[in-house]
Amino acid sequence: RAFNFNAGPAALPLEVLERAQAEFVDYRNTGMSIMEMSHRGAVYEAVHNEAQERLLSLLGNPSGYKVLFIQGGASTQFAMIPMNFLGQGHAANYVMTGSWADKALKEAKLIGETHVAASSEESKYMSLPKLADIQLSDNAAYLHLTSNETIEGTQFKDFPDTGAVPLICDMSSDILSRPFDLRRFGMVYAGAQKNLGPSGVAVVIVREDLITDSPKHLPTMLRYNTYLKNNSLYNTPPSFGIYMINEVLKWIEEKGGLAGVQDMNRKKAALIYDAIDNSGGFYRGCVNPDSRSDMNITFRLETEELEKEFVKASEKEGFVGLKGHRSVGGLRASVYNAVPYESCKALVDFMEHFKNNR
Ligand code: PLP
Repeated sequence: RAFNFNAGPAALPLEVLERAQAEFVDYRNTGMSIMEMSHRGAVYEAVHNEAQERLLSLLGNPSGYKVLFIQGGASTQFAMIPMNFLGQGHAANYVMTGSWADKALKEAKLIGETHVAASSEESKYMSLPKLADIQLSDNAAYLHLTSNETIEGTQFKDFPDTGAVPLICDMSSDILSRPFDLRRFGMVYAGAQKNLGPSGVAVVIVREDLITDSPKHLPTMLRYNTYLKNNSLYNTPPSFGIYMINEVLKWIEEKGGLAGVQDMNRKKAALIYDAIDNSGGFYRGCVNPDSRSDMNITFRLETEELEKEFVKASEKEGFVGLKGHRSVGGLRASVYNAVPYESCKALVDFMEHFKNNR
């Protein structure tokens, strides 16, 4: 297997892929693959419901929350959120932390009034705003936050208290990488393709009372209420993706739940950040240490030439995905839940070797 540091779609746990492979053609003696089955049948519905229950169970089963499966990735959520939650006379509040927060805000601007509640643009998004500096507008419909900026490599370690204003969080690149208190959020969402499963489905965990009604003028598929009323089975769901999510959730349970994966993730990230910090300036972390992400580790070398050489040499050694996002350049190691510690160890050995052979 490659040492896969892709930012997304990203590595899946090998055990999950192997289990899915074993039942790929004949799902539990049904004579069919799960992806060939009717989404109205008992076999698929059991998987669908199990995935929802497992997810809530990993989050401690707080009451009043529902799990929805929606197609169109996290990017469709950028639009659905203001469409469903931003009423006349209110402003959608956003914390501006980088590339993904910016995309979310741009969609809200298409729908109605917006307000930037805090921004770290001044630092070129290399450090996160302080929670105490987040200023909601008086007419805030909700506050939107990006817990982990995949491109810049920042991650909130804590979340603001927004009182009665629903806190909505894009957790696409760090969902289920650590425990968090769902009760502090009105809604949490993520494209599946980093920590949850294959691309093609976004997972939305939302307080039911926020979506018991949706604006009547919205198209059916863009109303959260449609997914709530029909248990995300209004139309044909991305059934294979949801099956894979259920398998990934089982794997997380086996790893000791969210505390277990957090422990692994901290060790992996510390290993790589230490290699950067102890390189005598050869490697330079991009992000202010207090805002660093445990999921996406961004770093640079002295010149772009040297970075190109690094990527080329790494690919020869079986590493994948270490080139930074095209919009910011540099280097990035994405170390989601499924990236084994051994891959991180191989990376720091490679970094050391590359440095010493310059
Ligand atoms: N939000 C974050 C933080 C992301 O990292 C990404 C994708 O990389 C997205 C949103 C967009 O997700 P999708 O491609 O599922 O629309």
